[in-house]
Amino acid sequence: MSIESELIWFDGEFVPYHEANIHVLSHTLHYGLGAFEGIRAYAQPDGRAGIWRLRAHIRRFMDSLKMMATDCPFTLEQIEDACVQVLKVNGFSEAYLRPLAFLGHGRMGLGARDNKIHVVVAAWKWGAYLGEDGLTNGVRLCTSSMTRHHPNAALQRAKVVGHYVNSVLARYEANDNGFDEAIMLDQNGYVAEGTGENIFVVEEGVLHTPPVANILPGITRRTVLDIARHEQIEVREQFFGRDALYTADEAFMCGTAAEVTPIRSLDRRQVGTATPGPVTKTIQRTYLDAVRGKVPWLTDNITVVE
Ligand code: PMP
Repeated sequence: MSIESELIWFDGEFVPYHEANIHVLSHTLHYGLGAFEGIRAYAQPDGRAGIWRLRAHIRRFMDSLKMMATDCPFTLEQIEDACVQVLKVNGFSEAYLRPLAFLGHGRMGLGARDNKIHVVVAAWKWGAYLGEDGLTNGVRLCTSSMTRHHPNAALQRAKVVGHYVNSVLARYEANDNGFDEAIMLDQNGYVAEGTGENIFVVEEGVLHTPPVANILPGITRRTVLDIARHEQIEVREQFFGRDALYTADEAFMCGTAAEVTPIRSLDRRQVGTATPGPVTKTIQRTYLDAVRGKVPWLTDNITVVE
């Protein structure tokens, strides 16, 4: 699928896709200090685009910049509006949205803080992040040899450009070894998250997920917790090792891009029956219906593009 669109929002204006360019001496390109988001819009029952949990995403975007001691030159409302407008001008009813804030060029060196901060919002059509088969039948995972960032090394709750080197290396390793995706352990050996997803395990009908300590506070994770509460599924936010997946009845990963993706195996060991289990299926179905405006108690989180 192409990431091309007609127009990209760039510092308050729309510019043609091929003209949305930056200087090679842009600070973020060298040092990685910048923040981004990944958001999805889905076609609603009336055909209009609806952005899922836009406020939560832009709030996290602003928080990521705050954690990076960087002032955003636009307000939360302006960036929300940019997300709405970018769908409109490109005529998308379903798309992935990518707000990004980065430091431009001017001065170099780690202490250069006066370079202009740019903000862009791009949108493109993106299908199932871990493949249609993965979404339907589950993915094959490995435990990564890469340790997740120590919370005091990277401020892991922030969605920061440079943090993703750790994820990219883990993903490369997983794919090179024939797996779909990796699970990353923290510095204590507990399951942290996927390279771009949070993790849930089901054991005897109870959902387990690592607490938001050294992981990205996923917005899909939050939705899964909302769905679990509504379905009266008990949830325990606690640390566990990868052994919990070896003995789990079911497990799944979740994220804006990955949505709710069942886990078939970890380290070539079958997880549960290696097919999506009943809890996973309920949560996946409810999530995929909710984002399309089909779950009445969850529709207040959708920003419809008029
Ligand atoms: N963890 C990491 C490292 C991620 O990159 C993502 C994707 N943003 C997630 C978890 C899931 O977060 P969300 O549900 O907000 O997309």
